[in-house]
Formats: sequence, structure tokens, C-alpha cells
Amino acid sequence: MQEYPKHYCGVFGIYGHPNAAELTYYGLYALQHRGQESAGIVTSDGKQFRAHKGMGLVSQVFDGEILHGLIGRMAVGHTRYSTSGSSLIQNAQPLTINSRIGPVAIAHNGNLTNAMVLRDELEDKGQIFQTSVDSEIILHLLAQPGGNGNGNHLVHTLRRIEGAYSLVIMTENELIGVRDPHGFRPLSLGKIDDAWVLASETCAFDLIHAKFVRDVEPGEIVIINQDGLTSIQAFPEQERRAFCIFEYVYFARPDSVIADRNVYKVRVEMGRQLAREFPLDADVVVPVPDSGNCAALGYSQESRIPFEMAFVRNHYVGRSFLQPSQLIRDFDVRVKLNLITELVKGKRVIVVDDSIVRGTTCKTRVNNLKQAGAKEVHVLVSCPPHMHPCVYGIDFPDRSKLMAANHSLEEIRKYLSADSLYYLSQEGMVKATGLPKTAFCMACYDGRYPVPYDPTVDKYIIERRNGRVASLSETMAKDRAQIKLL
Ligand code: AMP
Repeated sequence: MQEYPKHYCGVFGIYGHPNAAELTYYGLYALQHRGQESAGIVTSDGKQFRAHKGMGLVSQVFDGEILHGLIGRMAVGHTRYSTSGSSLIQNAQPLTINSRIGPVAIAHNGNLTNAMVLRDELEDKGQIFQTSVDSEIILHLLAQPGGNGNGNHLVHTLRRIEGAYSLVIMTENELIGVRDPHGFRPLSLGKIDDAWVLASETCAFDLIHAKFVRDVEPGEIVIINQDGLTSIQAFPEQERRAFCIFEYVYFARPDSVIADRNVYKVRVEMGRQLAREFPLDADVVVPVPDSGNCAALGYSQESRIPFEMAFVRNHYVGRSFLQPSQLIRDFDVRVKLNLITELVKGKRVIVVDDSIVRGTTCKTRVNNLKQAGAKEVHVLVSCPPHMHPCVYGIDFPDRSKLMAANHSLEEIRKYLSADSLYYLSQEGMVKATGLPKTAFCMACYDGRYPVPYDPTVDKYIIERRNGRVASLSETMAKDRAQIKLL
């Protein structure tokens, strides 16, 4: 099985607040949807780093006592879904090193596409790596001789790494935010009182009453220290912009604002656009919760066909796709939603979801609707067919498991047992964002990868190469371990 290395992650940082650890905890809480396998916070009091990381949800990893021990007015935090390297505690972030330039902590969202080349080069020079994640490479590059941790050295480091990265870096006295020159993943800047805050998504600011200031621009480095905030454009020659459009379709939280667009509104517009492209005759529009909610609402508003929340979600079940084991995923798909039969019985139903990846979820929903007595089931998807894997940080399977990459529309419709099946067009999806097509990476739809990558590199490449692939039992045993680092 080939899987590509990816990072689902949420990153957070704060500079100059007496409750830095606590606010980071709440920030990570709001970013929990970006990764649920591990969480970590590192603080600095200007002299010393203190860290705590663990496997599991933010609320499981931290408690009041732990947060109390994380002293300092600066902090960096991370929530992780293992997509580069195994789900092990040593791969949990933020990663920290003690180096020539003092202690450095890093939280990374995205995927480096030249990780192997760089790691080979560094290992050949005798560097010893503690983890099997690509993010550690950035720390090693930063610690190389010639650097003093200042902006110029960071620029030099960034010019060596390729791919997708939104970073929050902390030294003893500075907090640094970085977004790769294509801007694949989001990163926003906010303020709470006099303290600066960095977060993957603006929903983290809302929770802690921080004021959203602006997005960190693609290629921008923001350095925050006692002199205030300095901005450096590390790539003044302006690379092609390539923000991941799937953040708007599915991944980001609907209450976040990215590139001045509220994610909820974009999704509703995707649903409206779907209704313009495929005006069907039906009795009711039903979303697959929660992923299809906004688009179904948009379809209903545009078509004037009534909207019903016929599927009821069990909120005590995790987000299925984010669990790494296939066994658990299938269980979740079955256990997650229940259907209110009388809302769909004898009716022509339009069921809306944001995407079909493997097809498992959708097939189950169509089946539920048919069993409940729906007269017709029409499946509408608020993005185009997923034809290609993502190498920049979204966990899509390889091509062999991507439904649309291997089957015609009619074959998929039959597989789903749907009466009809329609996907939003690429043009319609882009139009709904209000941004030009050139603003986006749409590689999973059109196969045009803005940054070249090595297709032989996969998620476990580093461990496999070193002959250290962890067995499943070993991985699971370590998953349960919680460690206190300092
Ligand atoms: P499936 O077609 O069964 O693989 O799953 C599709 C469902 O998973 C849709 O409802 C999406 O909302 C959700 N989904 C799609 N892509 C992802 C992803 N990369 N990570 C998590 N969930 C996803």
C-alpha cells in the first residue's frame, strides 16, 4: 500500500501573555479538528523551555496542573494527525532541540516534498535525528553552523525546504510565524491585549477573545520579540499562489475566515452553485452531517426545495476519517449517524456531501435512505471528483483507492445505488470562493502539482529506510503512553 506523507495539523503560538500556556490550550482546543492523535505545548520564560506532549485529544493530554507547570509568557502548541512518520509519542509536536543558537521549538502544518534529500544530506554529515517526521529537518537546518537564529538564517533555511509548511517557531525570546511561498496551508495573526497570537485558523482567536489582525502572507516570516513585530518576505520573487482549495471545501472550520472569506459562506455558495449547475426535481434536501451541512443549505436556498436534517449525528463519536485504522473507520461510518425515517419515507431525496473519496461513507448513506423508504436518492457532491492524491498535507489515499480515479461517473452511481450523481464543476467550486483559480492548489482535482514531488516517497519512508517500521502492536502500545517531558 502506498500512502503519501502528509500532515494534518493545527499550530498555535503566543508571545507576551502571562497566561500563555492556558491560552494555547484553548487555541489548540479550537483547532482540534485539524488533528486528533497528539497534542503538545512548549513554553518559554525567557530562560528555560517547559514542554508537555501526549497522545490523544487536547482535553485528554492536558489538565490544570500540567498547564500550571508550563511557565512563561511565550508558548507554541500543536495538534497532530500522523501523516509523516508513525503515530508515536516521539513524533508528537512541537519538536524541541537545544542547539548552538539555544533552545528552539517548532510546530509544523504541511508536508515537505524534498524531505528525503535533505535528511540524507544531513545524516551523511553525521546529524542524529530523534523522530521520523519531516519537521525535524527544519530544526536541523536552523541549527547548522553559519546561522545565529536571526531572520537571514531562517530565510536561508526556508530556501532549502520545498513543499507545504505553515510554521510556528519559538526561541528563548522570539516567536516566529512562517508560511511557505505558495501558501498551501493557512496561518493567521491575531492580538489579545498586547500579546501577539498565531494560529492555523481564526476560529482559535474567537475562543480566546483575540482580535484577528491578518493572514500571514505566502512566503512571509513574522518575527515577534520585545521590539514588536517585524515582517520579512523570504521569497520576494513571488511564487505561484497555491492555497489548498480543499480547506474551503471540507477541512477548515466553517467559523474560520481565510483570505477574507468566511468558510461557512463559501460552502453555502458551493451548494448554491451546485443547484445552478444541477437543478433537480425533488422533495427534500438532506445533508450528510456535518461535512455536507453548508452545501446542502445552499442547494436548498437556491432551489427552494425544503432542507431537512434527516441524519442525526452522534456527537460522541470522533471524526471517522481521521482515525488511521481502516477497521475503526468502517465502524465509525456505521455508528456515527442515525436517520429520521419519516422525513424521507416515500420522498425524492437530494443528499448532499462535500466530497466522495473512497465512496464508503456515501454508499452507506444512500443505503440508509433507501432502507428508510426514500423513493429516489440523488447524490450531489459540493466539489469535483477527487482524481489525484495530495502530497501537501491532506490525507487522501493513493490513486488506487480514490473512487473517481478508477471509475466512471456511471460506475460510481451504480456502486452507490443512487438514482443520479452529480459533482460540482471545477469552475463552479472556484467561483464560489470569489477568488481566481490561480490562487489555489487544486492538484487533487486536476493533477497539476505546484511543487514537484517524488512519487516513491511515502509516509513511512524514513522508518522503512532505517529498518525501523513500528509494528501495529508497538504503535498502539506507545499511543497509550503519555509522557511529561520536563
Ligand atoms: P469516503 O468517500 O468514504 O472516503 O469519505 C468521504 C467523507 O469523508 C466525506 O463525507 C468527507 O467529508 C470526508 N473526507 C473527505 N476527505 C477527507 C479527508 N482527507 N480527511 C477527512 N475526512 C475527509
